[in-house]
Order: sequence, then C-alpha cells, then structure tokens
Amino acid sequence: MYERHELIIGGRPRPAGGAETITVVNPATEEVVGHAPSATPEEVDLAVETAAAAFRESPWRQFEMEKRVAVVEAMCAALEPRLEEILRLVTAEMGVPIKASRALHRDMAIGSVRHACAAARRIAVEERRDGQVQALVRLEPTGVVAAIAPWNGPFLQALYKIVYPLLAGCSVVFKPAPETPLDAYLVAEAFAEAGLPDGVLSVVPGGPAVGERLVAHPGVDAVFFTGSTETGRRIGAVCGANMKRAVLELGGKSAAIVLEDADLAATLPGLTSGAFGNTGQNCAATSRVLVARSRYDEVLEGLAESARSLVVGDPQDEATGLGPLVSSRQRDRVEGHVAAALADGAVAAEPGGRPDDLPRGWFLRPTVLGSVDNRSRVAQEEIFGPVVCVIPVEDDVDAIRTADDSAYGLHGAVYSEDDERALAVARAIRTGTFSVNGFLLNSELPFGGVKASGRGRKYGVEGIREFMEIKTINFARSAGSFSMR
Ligand code: NAD
Repeated sequence: MYERHELIIGGRPRPAGGAETITVVNPATEEVVGHAPSATPEEVDLAVETAAAAFRESPWRQFEMEKRVAVVEAMCAALEPRLEEILRLVTAEMGVPIKASRALHRDMAIGSVRHACAAARRIAVEERRDGQVQALVRLEPTGVVAAIAPWNGPFLQALYKIVYPLLAGCSVVFKPAPETPLDAYLVAEAFAEAGLPDGVLSVVPGGPAVGERLVAHPGVDAVFFTGSTETGRRIGAVCGANMKRAVLELGGKSAAIVLEDADLAATLPGLTSGAFGNTGQNCAATSRVLVARSRYDEVLEGLAESARSLVVGDPQDEATGLGPLVSSRQRDRVEGHVAAALADGAVAAEPGGRPDDLPRGWFLRPTVLGSVDNRSRVAQEEIFGPVVCVIPVEDDVDAIRTADDSAYGLHGAVYSEDDERALAVARAIRTGTFSVNGFLLNSELPFGGVKASGRGRKYGVEGIREFMEIKTINFARSAGSFSMR
C-alpha cells in the first residue's frame, strides 16, 4: 500500500492539515492501492506563495541553463533505481498493461526528459540584435506555473509537466489527478535528491476545487493544463480574464486515413494501437478510421480480427494487451456511447462488452463499429475507451474533408505506400500533430492541438519556450561592448 500523509511544499514534505483523503483504487481488482491527502485551500495558497517567493529569491531562475539541465539530469538518475516500482505503481493506479507502461512511463517518459535537456541546451537565452540601436533580446522565465494533469498518463505527465517549466527557470506547483496522485511524490523526491533549490517545486493533490483555486490564485503567472476540452475552456477563460499564460492540451477525435494503396498487413498494427492503446484512453487515439471505399470491408474485418486477438485481463501480466477502464463511471460512459451508436445505425463488426471471465475490475472488450456516419455522436465526441468507428470515404479529398469535419484537431494518421500522396494528406489536415504509416507518440518534437484540442505545445524547444517571456533591452547610448549570457 502507498500511504501518503504529507504534501510537498517548496520541495519539502509537510504534514497535511486537511480532513479530506483521496483513496486510490486499482481498476483491475477494485482493491485499494493507497491514499493521499487532498490539499486544503490554505495549503494551495501556501504552495503558490512559496513558489512566488522562490521565484523572487531562489537562485533557480538566475541559474545558467546548463546548471538547470544538470539538476534535471541528476533527478533522472535518482529515479532510475525506482523505475520498475514506478511502472508497477502506475499500472496499479490506472490499469495500463505493464508492457505498455514500460513503453510510456519508462522509455517515453525518461526520453521526454532527456529530449528536454537537449532542447534546453539549444536555447539562446540572449541574442544581440543591433539595428537602429544596440539591443539585446532575452528570454526570461514566466514565473509561477500551475501544472494540472489528468489520470491517463500519470508518471509521464508528472515528469514533463514539472521538467519543462523548471528548465525555463519557473517555479512549479503541480496538481496530479485525484485518480493518480501517488507518482508525483516520487518525482519531487528525486528532485530533492538532485539538489533542486528549496521553494521551487510543490505537489498538491486534489480534485477540481484544488485546480480551480490554483488557476485563480493571483500568484500564478501561467497554467500548464492537460485534460478535457470542457475543463480547458473554463481554465482558458479564467486565464484570459487575468492575463495569465495558458498552455492547454485538450481532447481529441483523431482520424486514421487508409488510402486505397495502403499495405493492410503493415497498417493494422498502427490502427490497432491507435484505437486501443491505453484501453483507448489516449488523447491522441485515432478513434475514427476513414477508409477508401474499395478497401472498406477488408479493413473493417482486419480491425475486428485484431480486436478479437487482444488479450484482455490482468494489466500486471506481461501477456496482457488491454487493461481495464480507469473507473466504473468511465466504463458506464463508454457502454452508453456504444449503445447510442448502435441505435443510430452503426453496425458492430466486433461488439465488445464486459468479459464473462473477469467478474472484478472495470474491463470492456474492444468494440469495432462499421457503417458509422461521421456526423453522428460516436464519431464526433471523444469517448476515451476501446471503441473505434470505421467510416468509408470516396477519395483523398473526401478523406481530408471528413477528417477535418470535427471540433478537434490534435493528431491523425495516414497509411499509404506513396510518400508524396501521404504527405499531401498530412499537410492538408488541420491538426497539431500527424503520423504517416503508424501511430507515433514522439516526445522529442512539439506536440499539441488546434481547434478544440487546445493551444500551445509540449516537448521540444517549443515546449520550454512556452514558459519564457521575451524582453527587449534597447541601448539609447552604450559604452561599447557588453557581455551576454
Ligand atoms: P479533466 O478535465 O476532468 O481533469 C483534468 C485535471 O483537471 C484533473 O487534475 C482535474 O482534477 C482538474 N480539474 C477539473 N476541473 C478543474 C477546474 N475547473 N479547474 C482546474 N482544474 C480542474 O480530464 P480527465 O478526465 O482527468 O482526463 C481526460 C481528458 O484529458 C481527455 O479529454 C483527454 O483527451 C485529455 N488529455 C489530453 C492530452 C493532450 O496532450 N492533449 C493528454 C492526455 C489527456
């Protein structure tokens, strides 16, 4: 059992004062994994005030970039011996199969930090821009960042949401999702071991009320939010009214397009992981598959066959391909969507449903729906479960139009043997990220959305620049040369 009775305020554990406790439940067994305290309003205020004081007074913001990178690298080294324990914890908290947990929460998560360090080294903090006058254009950290995470990628989210603003020189108050509050403690402990100066990082678990208090706090200069579009809109409105910077990574309903020349055997693995990876609880999931009409039957049957072959069960088992949904409420939601789609005229090529051999846990077998109308609810709303819609299209132009016929614009994919043709489709679609001939989640390069999928980017140089402000220093008169940092 993971029992936490403290918050992390300014890098140090502090006994929690509130009466409210979060109970973390394993979605595969319905057993209790552990507990964490929920921060009180006063504790949220204290975390922000500590972060603001650190931003004014601590050396962190003044450090040369290389010194910040050294602390982040030391944090990563401190995490290494605990990685296997962390992977098991994430799987117990939210049900991602252990094999996928290794890919996401070890390879991609640690990779995202290494890439962040490499990106940080490429940032020129000051640039001489002499023109009409001698001048410097410099990048300065934004200030106190409130980082708010969802439950669907807990350790990965905690790592990059803390690391990117820290590399920019900001102070961070991190709020994990109430379903998965335990991982962020391990990141904070590793940062303490790595010598992050006091005051710079706090962790305040809690639900929406804790998030709202953080976002509205006048000491917060920027919000780095990942979650649903509905919550993102609310946060964006508060930030807009208070002139705070907001980086919003929101929902998606991305399309994978299968052109008529696609190689089906090479295409099916990407379609399958795009639809069912993390039990469909991926913001970037390609949950709509748009197929050239001449290949429609083949792709529908191929996807149904792939879905049938996925091993559904204990996520701690190496052989498992599909774990449970995060909660019974989420499972009910997904079942409701499937029932409504069938009533709307969709045809189940693979019906899904609750597996008879798994009486405990919130499992659902994957569902493949054919004959779906792109305007129907199941094709327009983010389901966040193992449900994929297969939709026939007439040609490349129709595929692009149908893919763009969505409120969202986060990700997408195209499958074709012709690179030029694939690239033409990739260029045309309004989305922030796109994959060709696969389902790629790449933590080295900028990732984010357009339209209702949000604003701003994580990862890459761009992911650090989100938390830096531009200051221009013009010399009306100068003694000649001056030093640069
Ligand atoms: P959610 O919006 O319900 O909650 C996300 C976080 O925001 C949680 O920590 C929650 O406690 C907090 N929160 C809720 N209401 C708040 C408020 N009014 N003010 C401040 N904080 C508040 O989302 P969720 O159900 O936890 O996560 C699933 C969603 O996240 C999906 O829509 C998914 O697409 C999205 N997501 C997006 C990305 C991306 O990179 N675009 C990545 C992962 C998940």
